[in-house]
Amino acid sequence: MSHPERPVRVVVAGMGDTGLITAVNLSRHRRLVDVVGISSKPGLFSGKDLGWRLARPEQWAAKYHVPFGRYRALDGVRLVHGTMTGLDPDGRLVTVESADGATTQEPYDVLVLATGVRSGFWRRPELQGQAQLDQGLRDMHDRFAAAGSIAIVGGGATAVNSAAQLAEAFPATRVDLYFPGDNALTRHHPRVWGVVRARLQRLGVRLHPGHRAVLPADLSPSPGPVAFTTGRPSAEAELVLWAVGRAEPNTAWLPDQLLDQDGFVRVRADLRTPGHDDIWAVGDVAASDPLRASARNLGAELVARNIVATVRGRSGRDLRIPAYAQGSVLGPLHDGLEIFFASGRRVRLPRRPYFAIEHHLTGPLMYRGIRPAPVRS
Ligand SMILES: Cc1cc2nc3c(=O)[nH]c(=O)nc-3n(C[C@H](O)[C@H](O)[C@H](O)COP(=O)(O)OP(=O)(O)OC[C@H]3O[C@@H](n4cnc5c(N)ncnc54)[C@H](O)[C@@H]3O)c2cc1C
Repeated sequence: MSHPERPVRVVVAGMGDTGLITAVNLSRHRRLVDVVGISSKPGLFSGKDLGWRLARPEQWAAKYHVPFGRYRALDGVRLVHGTMTGLDPDGRLVTVESADGATTQEPYDVLVLATGVRSGFWRRPELQGQAQLDQGLRDMHDRFAAAGSIAIVGGGATAVNSAAQLAEAFPATRVDLYFPGDNALTRHHPRVWGVVRARLQRLGVRLHPGHRAVLPADLSPSPGPVAFTTGRPSAEAELVLWAVGRAEPNTAWLPDQLLDQDGFVRVRADLRTPGHDDIWAVGDVAASDPLRASARNLGAELVARNIVATVRGRSGRDLRIPAYAQGSVLGPLHDGLEIFFASGRRVRLPRRPYFAIEHHLTGPLMYRGIRPAPVRS
Protein backbone atom coordinates (compact mmCIF):
# COMPACT_ATOMS: atom_id res chain seq x y z
CA MET A 1 0.00 0.00 0.00
CA SER A 2 3.00 2.36 -0.28
CA HIS A 3 2.82 5.73 -2.13
CA PRO A 4 -0.90 5.70 -2.93
CA GLU A 5 -2.09 7.97 -5.77
CA ARG A 6 -5.10 9.06 -3.77
CA PRO A 7 -5.52 9.21 -0.01
CA VAL A 8 -6.31 5.83 1.49
CA ARG A 9 -9.84 5.74 2.87
CA VAL A 10 -9.79 4.67 6.51
CA VAL A 11 -13.14 3.89 8.12
CA VAL A 12 -13.10 4.00 11.91
CA ALA A 13 -15.94 1.74 13.06
CA GLY A 14 -17.04 2.97 16.49
CA MET A 15 -16.07 6.40 17.78
CA GLY A 16 -15.88 5.86 21.52
CA ASP A 17 -12.79 6.41 23.65
CA THR A 18 -10.33 4.68 21.34
CA GLY A 19 -12.02 5.18 17.95
CA LEU A 20 -12.11 8.93 18.56
CA ILE A 21 -8.41 9.14 19.42
CA THR A 22 -7.58 6.94 16.43
CA ALA A 23 -9.53 9.27 14.08
CA VAL A 24 -7.94 12.36 15.67
CA ASN A 25 -4.45 10.96 15.09
CA LEU A 26 -5.17 9.79 11.56
CA SER A 27 -6.68 13.14 10.58
CA ARG A 28 -3.24 14.76 10.83
CA HIS A 29 -2.17 12.87 7.71
CA ARG A 30 -4.66 14.29 5.22
CA ARG A 31 -2.48 13.73 2.18
CA LEU A 32 -2.20 10.07 3.01
CA VAL A 33 -5.54 9.18 4.54
CA ASP A 34 -9.16 10.22 4.18
CA VAL A 35 -10.95 9.38 7.42
CA VAL A 36 -14.59 8.40 7.93
CA GLY A 37 -15.91 7.82 11.48
CA ILE A 38 -19.07 5.80 12.05
CA SER A 39 -20.78 5.99 15.41
CA SER A 40 -24.10 5.20 16.98
CA LYS A 41 -23.65 8.25 19.22
CA PRO A 42 -23.48 11.92 18.15
CA GLY A 43 -20.28 12.44 20.12
CA LEU A 44 -18.00 10.86 22.65
CA PHE A 45 -20.11 9.15 25.29
CA SER A 46 -17.61 7.28 27.38
CA GLY A 47 -18.11 4.13 29.42
CA LYS A 48 -15.48 5.28 31.89
CA ASP A 49 -15.89 6.35 35.51
CA LEU A 50 -19.46 5.17 36.07
CA GLY A 51 -19.52 6.35 39.68
CA TRP A 52 -18.46 9.88 38.75
CA ARG A 53 -21.16 9.88 36.06
CA LEU A 54 -23.86 8.83 38.54
CA ALA A 55 -22.69 11.14 41.31
CA ARG A 56 -21.74 14.31 39.40
CA PRO A 57 -23.10 14.03 35.85
CA GLU A 58 -22.28 17.62 34.80
CA GLN A 59 -18.60 17.24 35.73
CA TRP A 60 -18.46 13.82 34.08
CA ALA A 61 -20.15 15.07 30.92
CA ALA A 62 -17.71 17.96 30.54
CA LYS A 63 -15.00 15.38 29.95
CA TYR A 64 -16.78 12.31 28.65
CA HIS A 65 -19.93 13.46 26.82
CA VAL A 66 -18.64 15.76 24.12
CA PRO A 67 -20.29 16.29 20.69
CA PHE A 68 -17.96 15.43 17.80
CA GLY A 69 -18.34 18.98 16.43
CA ARG A 70 -16.21 20.30 19.29
CA TYR A 71 -13.12 18.31 18.32
CA ARG A 72 -11.11 20.51 15.96
CA ALA A 73 -9.22 17.53 14.54
CA LEU A 74 -12.48 16.00 13.31
CA ASP A 75 -13.21 18.96 11.01
CA GLY A 76 -11.70 17.02 8.12
CA VAL A 77 -13.28 13.70 9.11
CA ARG A 78 -16.59 12.63 7.59
CA LEU A 79 -18.86 11.45 10.39
CA VAL A 80 -21.74 9.04 9.92
CA HIS A 81 -24.29 8.74 12.72
CA GLY A 82 -25.65 5.22 12.43
CA THR A 83 -25.43 1.57 13.43
CA MET A 84 -23.15 -0.80 11.59
CA THR A 85 -25.05 -3.94 10.71
CA GLY A 86 -22.74 -5.83 8.36
CA LEU A 87 -19.24 -6.16 6.93
CA ASP A 88 -18.18 -7.57 3.56
CA PRO A 89 -14.40 -8.01 3.94
CA ASP A 90 -13.93 -9.13 0.31
CA GLY A 91 -15.83 -6.18 -1.15
CA ARG A 92 -14.45 -3.87 1.59
CA LEU A 93 -17.87 -2.52 2.49
CA VAL A 94 -19.47 -1.68 5.84
CA THR A 95 -23.27 -1.63 5.95
CA VAL A 96 -24.71 1.20 8.03
CA GLU A 97 -28.25 1.92 9.09
CA SER A 98 -28.25 5.64 9.55
CA ALA A 99 -30.28 7.69 11.99
CA ASP A 100 -32.85 8.57 9.28
CA GLY A 101 -33.54 4.87 8.62
CA ALA A 102 -31.61 4.65 5.33
CA THR A 103 -29.17 1.78 4.73
CA THR A 104 -25.91 2.70 3.06
CA GLN A 105 -22.62 1.00 2.27
CA GLU A 106 -19.37 2.65 3.29
CA PRO A 107 -16.39 1.55 1.20
CA TYR A 108 -12.97 1.40 2.82
CA ASP A 109 -9.35 0.66 2.00
CA VAL A 110 -8.51 0.24 5.68
CA LEU A 111 -10.97 -0.53 8.48
CA VAL A 112 -10.40 0.03 12.19
CA LEU A 113 -12.77 -1.91 14.44
CA ALA A 114 -13.32 0.03 17.66
CA THR A 115 -16.84 -0.90 18.72
CA GLY A 116 -15.95 -1.72 22.32
CA VAL A 117 -18.13 -3.82 24.59
CA ARG A 118 -21.60 -3.46 26.05
CA SER A 119 -21.95 -3.55 29.82
CA GLY A 120 -24.88 -2.84 32.13
CA PHE A 121 -26.95 0.27 31.39
CA TRP A 122 -23.89 2.49 31.05
CA ARG A 123 -22.27 1.09 27.91
CA ARG A 124 -24.85 0.51 25.21
CA PRO A 125 -24.20 0.32 21.47
CA GLU A 126 -27.68 1.43 20.36
CA LEU A 127 -28.28 4.46 18.20
CA GLN A 128 -28.93 7.42 20.49
CA GLY A 129 -29.22 11.18 20.08
CA GLN A 130 -27.95 13.99 22.27
CA ALA A 131 -31.26 14.67 24.06
CA GLN A 132 -31.76 10.99 24.88
CA LEU A 133 -28.25 10.68 26.30
CA ASP A 134 -28.65 13.88 28.38
CA GLN A 135 -31.98 12.66 29.75
CA GLY A 136 -30.54 9.23 30.62
CA LEU A 137 -27.70 10.85 32.58
CA ARG A 138 -30.06 13.05 34.58
CA ASP A 139 -32.58 10.28 35.29
CA MET A 140 -29.97 7.84 36.56
CA HIS A 141 -28.34 10.52 38.73
CA ASP A 142 -31.75 11.37 40.23
CA ARG A 143 -32.41 7.73 41.11
CA PHE A 144 -29.09 7.32 42.93
CA ALA A 145 -29.34 10.72 44.61
CA ALA A 146 -32.79 9.80 45.98
CA ALA A 147 -31.80 6.38 47.36
CA GLY A 148 -31.34 6.14 51.12
CA SER A 149 -29.13 3.06 50.76
CA ILE A 150 -27.19 1.72 47.80
CA ALA A 151 -25.75 -1.79 47.37
CA ILE A 152 -23.04 -2.15 44.76
CA VAL A 153 -22.37 -5.66 43.53
CA GLY A 154 -19.02 -6.30 41.87
CA GLY A 155 -15.31 -6.22 42.58
CA GLY A 156 -13.84 -4.52 39.53
CA ALA A 157 -12.88 -0.93 38.82
CA THR A 158 -16.45 0.08 37.89
CA ALA A 159 -17.90 -1.19 41.17
CA VAL A 160 -15.14 0.34 43.28
CA ASN A 161 -15.29 3.67 41.41
CA SER A 162 -19.06 3.75 41.95
CA ALA A 163 -18.76 3.03 45.67
CA ALA A 164 -16.22 5.82 46.22
CA GLN A 165 -17.95 8.43 44.10
CA LEU A 166 -21.44 7.79 45.45
CA ALA A 167 -20.21 7.70 49.06
CA GLU A 168 -18.40 11.01 48.64
CA ALA A 169 -21.25 12.76 46.80
CA PHE A 170 -24.02 11.47 49.12
CA PRO A 171 -22.49 11.20 52.61
CA ALA A 172 -25.87 10.54 54.24
CA THR A 173 -26.51 7.49 52.05
CA ARG A 174 -25.44 4.04 53.19
CA VAL A 175 -23.19 2.50 50.55
CA ASP A 176 -22.34 -1.22 50.70
CA LEU A 177 -19.93 -2.97 48.35
CA TYR A 178 -20.31 -6.75 47.90
CA PHE A 179 -17.65 -8.77 46.09
CA PRO A 180 -16.91 -12.51 45.92
CA GLY A 181 -13.21 -12.86 46.86
CA ASP A 182 -11.16 -11.67 49.82
CA ASN A 183 -9.98 -8.72 47.73
CA ALA A 184 -11.46 -6.61 44.97
CA LEU A 185 -9.56 -5.19 41.96
CA THR A 186 -7.90 -8.49 41.09
CA ARG A 187 -6.70 -7.21 37.68
CA HIS A 188 -4.59 -4.53 39.38
CA HIS A 189 -1.28 -4.91 41.17
CA PRO A 190 -1.95 -6.41 44.63
CA ARG A 191 -0.82 -3.17 46.34
CA VAL A 192 -3.61 -1.19 44.67
CA TRP A 193 -6.44 -2.86 46.57
CA GLY A 194 -4.76 -2.08 49.89
CA VAL A 195 -4.70 1.63 49.08
CA VAL A 196 -8.19 1.70 47.60
CA ARG A 197 -9.69 -0.33 50.45
CA ALA A 198 -8.39 2.16 53.00
CA ARG A 199 -9.81 5.03 50.96
CA LEU A 200 -13.23 3.39 50.67
CA GLN A 201 -13.30 2.83 54.42
CA ARG A 202 -12.46 6.49 55.04
CA LEU A 203 -15.37 7.42 52.79
CA GLY A 204 -17.68 5.27 54.90
CA VAL A 205 -18.26 2.49 52.35
CA ARG A 206 -19.14 -0.79 54.07
CA LEU A 207 -17.08 -3.58 52.52
CA HIS A 208 -18.39 -7.14 52.22
CA PRO A 209 -15.79 -9.60 50.87
CA GLY A 210 -16.79 -13.22 50.26
CA HIS A 211 -20.25 -12.30 48.94
CA ARG A 212 -21.11 -13.80 45.56
CA ALA A 213 -24.51 -12.46 44.57
CA VAL A 214 -27.29 -14.30 42.74
CA LEU A 215 -27.64 -12.29 39.55
CA PRO A 216 -31.05 -11.32 38.18
CA ALA A 217 -31.71 -11.72 34.44
CA ASP A 218 -32.00 -7.95 34.09
CA LEU A 219 -28.97 -6.13 35.48
CA SER A 220 -30.52 -2.65 35.40
CA PRO A 221 -30.42 -0.85 38.77
CA SER A 222 -33.21 -2.28 40.88
CA PRO A 223 -34.48 -2.25 44.47
CA GLY A 224 -32.99 -4.87 46.84
CA PRO A 225 -32.73 -7.32 48.44
CA VAL A 226 -29.58 -8.96 47.08
CA ALA A 227 -29.31 -12.73 47.60
CA PHE A 228 -25.96 -14.53 47.83
CA THR A 229 -24.79 -18.00 46.80
CA THR A 230 -22.14 -18.13 49.50
CA GLY A 231 -24.47 -18.92 52.41
CA ARG A 232 -24.70 -15.29 53.53
CA PRO A 233 -27.98 -13.69 54.50
CA SER A 234 -29.66 -11.46 51.90
CA ALA A 235 -28.91 -7.76 52.04
CA GLU A 236 -31.46 -4.97 51.86
CA ALA A 237 -30.90 -1.82 49.85
CA GLU A 238 -33.16 0.78 48.29
CA LEU A 239 -31.19 0.57 45.05
CA VAL A 240 -28.77 -2.05 43.75
CA LEU A 241 -26.08 -1.27 41.19
CA TRP A 242 -25.03 -4.44 39.38
CA ALA A 243 -21.46 -3.82 38.23
CA VAL A 244 -20.51 -7.43 37.66
CA GLY A 245 -18.32 -7.06 34.58
CA ARG A 246 -20.51 -9.00 32.19
CA ALA A 247 -19.09 -7.16 29.20
CA GLU A 248 -19.98 -8.48 25.75
CA PRO A 249 -18.23 -7.42 22.55
CA ASN A 250 -20.19 -5.33 20.03
CA THR A 251 -19.33 -7.65 17.17
CA ALA A 252 -22.62 -9.30 16.13
CA TRP A 253 -22.31 -7.42 12.81
CA LEU A 254 -18.91 -8.95 11.98
CA PRO A 255 -18.13 -12.22 10.18
CA ASP A 256 -17.03 -15.09 12.46
CA GLN A 257 -13.68 -15.41 10.69
CA LEU A 258 -12.54 -12.19 12.42
CA LEU A 259 -13.52 -13.30 15.92
CA ASP A 260 -12.18 -15.52 18.68
CA GLN A 261 -14.35 -18.01 20.57
CA ASP A 262 -15.66 -15.26 22.87
CA GLY A 263 -16.64 -12.96 20.02
CA PHE A 264 -13.75 -10.49 20.35
CA VAL A 265 -11.69 -9.45 17.32
CA ARG A 266 -8.47 -11.44 16.93
CA VAL A 267 -5.43 -9.21 16.57
CA ARG A 268 -1.68 -9.57 16.25
CA ALA A 269 0.66 -7.61 18.47
CA ASP A 270 0.58 -4.65 16.05
CA LEU A 271 -3.28 -4.64 16.27
CA ARG A 272 -3.78 -5.86 12.70
CA THR A 273 -6.17 -8.78 12.28
CA PRO A 274 -4.57 -12.05 11.15
CA GLY A 275 -5.58 -12.91 7.59
CA HIS A 276 -6.95 -9.43 6.80
CA ASP A 277 -4.14 -6.94 6.27
CA ASP A 278 -6.63 -4.12 5.73
CA ILE A 279 -8.52 -4.63 9.02
CA TRP A 280 -7.25 -3.48 12.40
CA ALA A 281 -8.85 -3.43 15.84
CA VAL A 282 -8.31 -1.40 18.99
CA GLY A 283 -9.84 -0.93 22.42
CA ASP A 284 -11.98 -3.27 24.45
CA VAL A 285 -13.11 -5.19 21.35
CA ALA A 286 -9.55 -6.20 20.40
CA ALA A 287 -8.42 -9.53 21.88
CA SER A 288 -4.83 -8.39 22.32
CA ASP A 289 -4.49 -9.85 25.85
CA PRO A 290 -6.78 -10.57 28.82
CA LEU A 291 -6.52 -6.97 30.08
CA ARG A 292 -7.42 -5.53 26.68
CA ALA A 293 -4.31 -3.39 26.85
CA SER A 294 -5.01 -1.46 23.64
CA ALA A 295 -7.99 0.23 25.34
CA ARG A 296 -5.41 2.32 27.21
CA ASN A 297 -1.60 2.36 27.13
CA LEU A 298 -1.72 4.59 24.00
CA GLY A 299 -3.28 1.77 21.95
CA ALA A 300 -5.33 4.18 19.82
CA GLU A 301 -2.28 6.30 19.05
CA LEU A 302 -0.39 3.10 18.16
CA VAL A 303 -3.00 1.79 15.74
CA ALA A 304 -3.13 5.18 13.96
CA ARG A 305 0.68 5.28 13.72
CA ASN A 306 0.83 1.72 12.44
CA ILE A 307 -1.78 2.39 9.75
CA VAL A 308 0.14 5.46 8.57
CA ALA A 309 3.40 3.47 8.60
CA THR A 310 1.78 0.74 6.50
CA VAL A 311 0.45 3.27 3.99
CA ARG A 312 4.02 4.54 3.71
CA GLY A 313 5.25 1.00 3.13
CA ARG A 314 6.86 0.64 6.55
CA SER A 315 6.17 -1.81 9.31
CA GLY A 316 4.37 -0.94 12.52
CA ARG A 317 5.22 -1.41 16.18
CA ASP A 318 3.84 -3.86 18.69
CA LEU A 319 1.59 -2.97 21.60
CA ARG A 320 3.26 -3.07 24.99
CA ILE A 321 1.24 -5.17 27.36
CA PRO A 322 1.60 -4.45 31.08
CA ALA A 323 1.23 -7.22 33.66
CA TYR A 324 -1.53 -5.41 35.55
CA ALA A 325 -4.28 -2.91 34.76
CA GLN A 326 -3.29 0.70 35.21
CA GLY A 327 -4.94 4.10 35.26
CA SER A 328 -7.25 5.86 37.64
CA VAL A 329 -9.60 3.64 39.64
CA LEU A 330 -11.68 5.96 41.78
CA GLY A 331 -11.85 8.93 39.39
CA PRO A 332 -11.57 12.52 40.62
CA LEU A 333 -12.55 12.92 44.28
CA HIS A 334 -12.59 16.13 46.32
CA ASP A 335 -8.84 15.92 46.98
CA GLY A 336 -7.81 15.05 43.44
CA LEU A 337 -7.14 12.07 41.24
CA GLU A 338 -4.95 9.09 41.96
CA ILE A 339 -3.38 7.15 39.10
CA PHE A 340 -2.06 3.63 39.63
CA PHE A 341 0.65 2.07 37.50
CA ALA A 342 1.17 -1.59 36.62
CA SER A 343 4.06 -1.64 39.13
CA GLY A 344 1.62 -0.83 41.94
CA ARG A 345 3.06 2.66 42.33
CA ARG A 346 0.73 5.63 42.28
CA VAL A 347 0.72 9.34 41.75
CA ARG A 348 -1.83 11.82 43.08
CA LEU A 349 -2.83 14.93 41.18
CA PRO A 350 -4.43 17.46 43.51
CA ARG A 351 -7.87 18.57 42.34
CA ARG A 352 -7.03 22.02 40.94
CA PRO A 353 -4.00 20.93 38.91
CA TYR A 354 -5.97 17.89 37.74
CA PHE A 355 -8.74 20.01 36.23
CA ALA A 356 -6.17 22.48 34.84
CA ILE A 357 -4.23 19.61 33.22
CA GLU A 358 -7.44 18.25 31.75
CA HIS A 359 -8.30 21.66 30.33
CA HIS A 360 -4.91 22.91 29.17
CA LEU A 361 -3.07 19.68 28.33
CA THR A 362 -5.35 16.71 27.64
CA GLY A 363 -7.56 18.63 25.21
CA PRO A 364 -4.71 20.06 23.12
CA LEU A 365 -2.45 17.01 23.34
CA MET A 366 -4.68 13.96 23.31
CA TYR A 367 -7.49 15.38 21.16
CA ARG A 368 -5.55 18.15 19.38
CA GLY A 369 -7.94 20.85 20.45
CA ILE A 370 -11.48 20.94 21.83
CA ARG A 371 -13.75 23.95 21.23
CA PRO A 372 -15.44 25.35 24.35
CA ALA A 373 -18.97 24.12 25.06
CA PRO A 374 -21.66 26.58 23.99
CA VAL A 375 -23.07 28.49 26.96
CA ARG A 376 -26.58 27.23 27.74
CA SER A 377 -29.15 29.96 28.31
C1 LIG B 1 -7.28 7.91 27.10
C2 LIG B 1 -7.85 6.76 27.86
C3 LIG B 1 -7.69 6.73 29.24
C4 LIG B 1 -8.20 5.64 29.96
N1 LIG B 1 -8.05 5.66 31.29
C5 LIG B 1 -8.53 4.64 32.01
C6 LIG B 1 -8.38 4.64 33.43
O1 LIG B 1 -7.80 5.55 33.98
N2 LIG B 1 -8.88 3.60 34.12
C7 LIG B 1 -9.53 2.56 33.49
O2 LIG B 1 -9.99 1.64 34.15
N3 LIG B 1 -9.70 2.56 32.16
C8 LIG B 1 -9.22 3.56 31.40
N4 LIG B 1 -9.40 3.54 30.05
C9 LIG B 1 -10.07 2.41 29.39
C10 LIG B 1 -11.58 2.48 29.44
O3 LIG B 1 -12.02 2.03 30.67
C11 LIG B 1 -12.23 1.57 28.36
O4 LIG B 1 -11.50 0.40 28.27
C12 LIG B 1 -12.31 2.31 27.04
O5 LIG B 1 -13.21 3.35 27.22
C13 LIG B 1 -12.79 1.43 25.90
O6 LIG B 1 -12.86 2.20 24.71
P1 LIG B 1 -13.43 1.56 23.38
O7 LIG B 1 -13.20 2.57 22.31
O8 LIG B 1 -12.89 0.20 23.19
O9 LIG B 1 -14.99 1.37 23.64
P2 LIG B 1 -16.15 2.47 23.75
O10 LIG B 1 -15.64 3.72 24.35
O11 LIG B 1 -17.31 1.77 24.39
O12 LIG B 1 -16.50 2.78 22.22
C14 LIG B 1 -17.22 1.94 21.37
C15 LIG B 1 -18.13 2.81 20.53
O13 LIG B 1 -18.64 2.05 19.44
C16 LIG B 1 -20.05 2.27 19.33
N5 LIG B 1 -20.65 1.10 18.67
C17 LIG B 1 -20.68 -0.17 19.13
N6 LIG B 1 -21.30 -0.98 18.23
C18 LIG B 1 -21.65 -0.19 17.20
C19 LIG B 1 -22.32 -0.42 15.95
N7 LIG B 1 -22.72 -1.65 15.57
N8 LIG B 1 -22.51 0.63 15.11
C20 LIG B 1 -22.08 1.88 15.45
N9 LIG B 1 -21.45 2.17 16.61
C21 LIG B 1 -21.23 1.13 17.46
C22 LIG B 1 -20.49 2.43 20.78
O14 LIG B 1 -21.76 3.04 20.88
C23 LIG B 1 -19.35 3.31 21.31
O15 LIG B 1 -19.60 4.65 21.00
C24 LIG B 1 -8.88 4.60 29.29
C25 LIG B 1 -9.04 4.64 27.90
C26 LIG B 1 -8.53 5.71 27.18
C27 LIG B 1 -8.72 5.73 25.67
